Amino acid sequence: MQSQKNHSQLFSFEFYPPKTDEGAASLQLVHNKLAQLNPDFFSVTFGAGGSTRDKTFTTVVDIQAKGIKAAPHLSCVASTKTNISAILKDYKEHGITKIVALRGDLPSGMMSAGEFRYANELVEFIRQETGDNFQIHVAAYPEVHPQASSAVDDFKNFKRKVEAGANAVITQYFYNAEAYFHFVDTCEKNGITIPIVPGIMPITQYSQLFRFSEMCGADIPRWLRKRLESFGDDRDSIQAFGLEVVSSLCQRLLDGGAPGLHFYTMNQSAPTMAILDNLKR
Ligand code: FAD
Repeated sequence: MQSQKNHSQLFSFEFYPPKTDEGAASLQLVHNKLAQLNPDFFSVTFGAGGSTRDKTFTTVVDIQAKGIKAAPHLSCVASTKTNISAILKDYKEHGITKIVALRGDLPSGMMSAGEFRYANELVEFIRQETGDNFQIHVAAYPEVHPQASSAVDDFKNFKRKVEAGANAVITQYFYNAEAYFHFVDTCEKNGITIPIVPGIMPITQYSQLFRFSEMCGADIPRWLRKRLESFGDDRDSIQAFGLEVVSSLCQRLLDGGAPGLHFYTMNQSAPTMAILDNLKR
């Protein structure tokens, strides 16, 4: 595998927009702690169908005002060009220069009345509307997107997003480093040279991680699942073991040439900080 090491290693931290005042106050503290690590940027998720549109916006603008770049996620499912255009305009006016462009998933029971089918169409639209104002990040699935008809088709579809003008890639989380290295190899064989940053999900509990992984198609390898199950309700042991496993995954990824790491923080600072603390950089 050709290393992606020529890019300097960059770290980014993902938040979801807080739903309550307590959540917002807690996120301020989490942000302040993580900001001390001087990340490349913070990103803020976007509820499919625009359900968190205003909260994503205010969270992003607040974060950027404190000095470190913030990147809103923007999903296009069930959205119109007029809506997306208005959101892009707002972000541009507030000095936002990075965006994570996604299709998103329709909430169950919701019929799409949208004008976009896939994320490549959103990337193309962002470029048409705003030129080079935004550095566009897109999602990738080293373990294959759960709705893809095949791994080959999924890769072709991923390539469309890159060709539409993406500048960087953030992957779905995974616990199998080989899946990432294989994906990067395939990219390089297909002439894709933009940074492919692994998405990292710290392990702090088991049942929610298991449910979430089932939904998003992230594999929890059998050995890892069995070890986590064996701790039962012993949260301290799960956290200690999770820290060890995810720290060594991150070390392996960086040693193998990953250009950085993107942490799904779940609006907590301690698990991400503990992992970064364990890394030799
Ligand atoms: P796409 O790239 O459009 O792919 C979706 C599926 O369609 C794949 O199976 C692909 O193979 C297929 N496909 C793609 N293009 C075509 C085409 N042109 N023709 C035929 N088939 C095609 N969700 C949210 O709701 N909000 C968020 O903030 C959010 N943030 C995320 C951040 C990251 C880093 C990641 C990895 C995921 C995030 N998600 C988020 C989840 C994401 O929205 C879902 O995984 C969604 O199912 C796919 O989004 P996508 O942008 O990868 O879609």
